[in-house]
Amino acid sequence: MESHLIHGKDLTPRWDYSHHVVPPMTASVIYRVESVERGAKGFAQFGDFDAMTEDPIYIYERLDEPTTGMLEDRLSDAEGGEMGIAFSTGMAAISAVTSALTNSGQHIISNDSVYGCTYSLFKNWMPKRGVNVSFVHLNGAKIVDYVKPETRIVYFETPINPTLELIDIELVASQVAQINKSRGENDKIFVVVDNTFASPYCQRPLELGADFVVASLTKHISGFGTDMGGIVVGSKKYFTDIMMYRKDFGGVLSGKHAWPFLVYGLPSLATRMRQTTKTASELAKYLVGHPKVKDVRYPGLETFPQYELARKQMRSYKGDFMPSSILYFVLEGSPDEAKKKGGELMNWLASKSLNYTLAVSLGHCKTLIEHPSSMTHSAISVDDQISAGIDPGGVRIACGLEEPEALIEEMEKGLNAI
Ligand code: PLP
Repeated sequence: MESHLIHGKDLTPRWDYSHHVVPPMTASVIYRVESVERGAKGFAQFGDFDAMTEDPIYIYERLDEPTTGMLEDRLSDAEGGEMGIAFSTGMAAISAVTSALTNSGQHIISNDSVYGCTYSLFKNWMPKRGVNVSFVHLNGAKIVDYVKPETRIVYFETPINPTLELIDIELVASQVAQINKSRGENDKIFVVVDNTFASPYCQRPLELGADFVVASLTKHISGFGTDMGGIVVGSKKYFTDIMMYRKDFGGVLSGKHAWPFLVYGLPSLATRMRQTTKTASELAKYLVGHPKVKDVRYPGLETFPQYELARKQMRSYKGDFMPSSILYFVLEGSPDEAKKKGGELMNWLASKSLNYTLAVSLGHCKTLIEHPSSMTHSAISVDDQISAGIDPGGVRIACGLEEPEALIEEMEKGLNAI
């Protein structure tokens, strides 16, 4: 799979570029069709997975585009799915899959801690469509206790942004499979996992029983913070619904924006993930031993409460343990002191260090540090943050490609300064 991420297929019915080493990028939004009949066939076969992949007829970029199609094929392979559908952002992908799978009157169970905008989508917008969302602490939960006749989706991230708590994908999927035994096809509950924090290199939820993976491509798949995108991967049975949704709501990923993911992001994914995971592991070990640090959460630490689960579900294609590149920690002191000191540390690193950039996002070649409570997760009230395990003083670090010693040295200086 690592070689496949780099090379992909040389020949694809989507795009004949057998003499190019990298796929060309077109600037054309529209495609000429040779006849009215071929144009009609293109419209008629839209949404038919087999026809669109075996003999694609390109018409208009919002419908289907060859470079985006190639990225979708590769990401679907990388996640172990049958089909992939790419969107302009991670949020466009999350809103599309959760909307396409639910009708008014239906219900979603979401983990209580999710990325701030996903929370806002579920809390503020889904009810306007008549879809209610229950926020449940899924870790260790008996799913059946929260399921209603109208439940259609169980949604979660693992690792969870920003607490890094894990959810046992196999355990949730097996409980849902049990519940689905007494439900018809139209009542089936889908397990949807946001795999943004791990990337398919570190974890493949579909292999563990999930029905759909969603992810922001803006993070690990981009790797350089230059492009936004999102992906839904799953069974081709649901291709038509999600493609139709994308066509009409319009959040498609353009070919120009698919191109950097295809040419730079995916081929470098495995190498980047190995380096950033190594750096995160060493930085986490350093922080654990520091007297000013109270709590470090990183799935690769032997002291991490869900270390065994991390070892079970976070694996590279070769089977190596891959706990990914993000860690979260809280400084010593009362909650107010920890928050104040955490702010001072982030400000010190932002102004005085070379290797830490105070910025949201993750999966970047530069190490990014941020304050989830007041930044990425500010859409969640502080009380709800606390009950979901988000410490108001918590600091998130998404490691980049720097060597661990460089990050440790500057962190040491920062901790000494506060
Ligand atoms: N899912 C997770 C876990 C995220 O952290 C983010 C963004 O930070 C998203 C989804 C949304 O992705 P995008 O910013 O590409 O819309």
